[in-house]
Amino acid sequence: MIKDLKLFQELAELLLEEEQNNPVAKPIATDLLYHKLDLSLNDKGIVDEELKDVLSSIIRTTPKTASKLFFNQLFGGRIGKAALGDLLAVLLNNSMYTYKVAGPQVGIEKVILKEISARINYGNNSDGTFASGGSMTNYIAMLMARDRFDPSIRTEGYTKKLVAYTSESSHYSIEKNASFLGIGRHQIRKIASDNYGKMIPEKLQKCIADDLNKGYHPFFVNATAGTTVLGAFDDIYALSQVCNKNDIWLHVDGAYCGSVIFSNNYKHLINGIEFSDSFSVNAHKMLGTPLTSSIILTKDKKHLHDSLSNDADYLYQTDGDDFNLGKTSLQCGRRNNALKLWTLWKSVGHKGLEKIVDKQFYLAKIAREYIKSNESYKLYSFDDSISVCFNYKDIPAKLLCTELYENSELMVGFGQFKGQEFVRLVTINSTLQEEDIKNFFSTLERYVRHKILK
Ligand SMILES: *Cc1c(COP(=O)(O)O)cnc(C)c1O
Repeated sequence: MIKDLKLFQELAELLLEEEQNNPVAKPIATDLLYHKLDLSLNDKGIVDEELKDVLSSIIRTTPKTASKLFFNQLFGGRIGKAALGDLLAVLLNNSMYTYKVAGPQVGIEKVILKEISARINYGNNSDGTFASGGSMTNYIAMLMARDRFDPSIRTEGYTKKLVAYTSESSHYSIEKNASFLGIGRHQIRKIASDNYGKMIPEKLQKCIADDLNKGYHPFFVNATAGTTVLGAFDDIYALSQVCNKNDIWLHVDGAYCGSVIFSNNYKHLINGIEFSDSFSVNAHKMLGTPLTSSIILTKDKKHLHDSLSNDADYLYQTDGDDFNLGKTSLQCGRRNNALKLWTLWKSVGHKGLEKIVDKQFYLAKIAREYIKSNESYKLYSFDDSISVCFNYKDIPAKLLCTELYENSELMVGFGQFKGQEFVRLVTINSTLQEEDIKNFFSTLERYVRHKILK
């Protein structure tokens, strides 16, 4: 193992060098992938220098999500202490289902859940769990809502037509989860968003009333804290009023921007969160931990137990249920995705997490101001969002993003809102500085200038 750790150190140093010197790895066309790299698995294995060479070539050609030119996704960058925690989790290799097997790691997960619960004023009766990603934490939310609405569905299956609500700007996992749960994709009502990308509460109320009239059973509303394209925040308080009136479960999908709970300057964006029934957040997005660290909280832990608990004598042999996390999780064997967040949090404190969050809004503001001050750009996004959407010189966004990527200039994606396509610059990497944002624009402009000259 010591030998492998030494090799790891060497390869990790190569990766850091590559991030500096070749921040946008030259993409390999899919039809050339198996020619350019030796990914084959053979009868005979390889070791030492040969293995190191293959791994090095894979590292060189893999996209660099921690580079200063990666703006493509709702994650990016690397915070050393969070990576450290995750590397330790790999070596420790616990499974989070029982205290017997995970020991203090259980306490680490529980402390995180408790601290998050305190930030959203869920009270002493709340609990939560980690899942493999934000899509799966949304799944758990819908599952708990379904079982609260009609506990007999767990054993008998569906006898009623259930319907759920989310905005047209929400994440696709809501529909996908409805199909997984047997509710059906077509039973998800897509409520219109306003021009800022927020769900319109009056349209929600109207849609619920129509469904009730038609004999449907509304059971779940999904609000989004940070929509995938515009980074918009639904008005949670207004939506909670509608849910309260109709006795419907309100979930807040904060996978993208739920981490505003850590910032005194931005937590107002989720005002009313204490009136929701469940809340999910991805630490691997705004908090910058390695993928994945996805958390869901519910205000009343009863629902977590009702929906997820199963008895298994071969597994739960010691300790109280409170410390056997398998009783409240979707999976059986479960990776430790808490330690990376805990290590980060422990090392920077509450204040440090706040700084990480605030920095992203600061970088987004720099980007928006640059765009506003330059007539060749058109801005599509709004204040209080870390998704900065724009077009440059009317160049089709898809074309521009593809060319920048294929020519190893920048990794940035595009999105659409109300029929308009644009570049989406995501300022989620809190380790970047103002000059890195300026460099993003100058790289883009230089590229376009040279292209036109050619
Ligand atoms: C990213 C995202 C998800 C999905 O999270 P994964 O961890 O990628 O599964 C869900 N909802 C929103 C709003 C997101 O931005």
